[in-house]
Amino acid sequence: MREFRAKPVVEALTQEYKEQADKLKSRGVVPALAIVRVGKREDDLAYERGIIKRFESAGCEAKVHELPEDVTFETVRDLLIQLDKDEKVHGILMFRPLPKHLDEDALRNLVSAGKDADCMSDINAAHVFAQDGVGYPPCTPEAVIEMLRFYEVPLKGKRVTVVGRSMVVGKPLAMLLLKENATVTICHTRTVDLEAECQRADIICAAAGAPRMIGPDHVSEGQIIMDVGINMVDGKLCGDVDYDAVSPLVDAITPVPGGVGGVTTAMLLKHVIASAKGM
Ligand code: NDP
Repeated sequence: MREFRAKPVVEALTQEYKEQADKLKSRGVVPALAIVRVGKREDDLAYERGIIKRFESAGCEAKVHELPEDVTFETVRDLLIQLDKDEKVHGILMFRPLPKHLDEDALRNLVSAGKDADCMSDINAAHVFAQDGVGYPPCTPEAVIEMLRFYEVPLKGKRVTVVGRSMVVGKPLAMLLLKENATVTICHTRTVDLEAECQRADIICAAAGAPRMIGPDHVSEGQIIMDVGINMVDGKLCGDVDYDAVSPLVDAITPVPGGVGGVTTAMLLKHVIASAKGM
């Protein structure tokens, strides 16, 4: 069994992105991400620390705009509009979900496609579905594709089963896999025989948010298992795949932590650098 870990992927990508960032800096452009955080949710803070570390390692900037939990809609709106206009800002990321009193749909659609570094706007989602190369796909599904590319897993003609159909992971991941000419099956809670749908795949992408739900009965020999799930069980992180039970049965698997999640911040960096190049 092979373990597809994030570390070598991130090291290789960061090196590549640092070289691109250095070239931009020699022209006076410092690739910069603006993070908009409302409140102090622990998972936002953990993600934020990961982003800042990744951006620093490539010599890029990630600036946090922290707003109080009771901030008004108008204040967040004005900040997003100002950041969107600012030529020194190449990407914008707003942590979600926002507190309930804020109209999240209105706010996430204020960022223009070129600066929407994690595909939060409807227009960027449409670009992912249209596969027209405009805007950026969401970072987590793209991290799955990037990991498969790094570990030299061909996708053309392969059967891939995606478990989960959210707009954040499952659906955009299915579109990115289609773009790579995979034959994609999307499963969800109403799927009749999930085990059979998983067993017949060459690659399973688990993005259900259900701890260790993919077990030995879902897998077959020679498969590659990409575990997108991040779940907290008894104070410990685990994926959607029962790693201990499944790993001896398959060809390759991503661990949690240390797998797909680790590559996500590198995708954010990729988008911000691409945006900086275009400005
Ligand atoms: P959602 O809860 O929005 O969606 C889960 C999807 O999985 C739904 O489509 C649901 O089906 C399906 N599903 C849930 N349980 C089952 C089941 N038992 N059998 C079949 N399908 C099921 O989650 P997200 O898409 O936002 O996230 C998925 C996972 O990915 C989570 O663990 C999350 O933490 C992780 N994640 C990781 C990120 C990272 O690595 N940086 C970023 C984003 C998410 P239905 O539509 O029928 O309800």
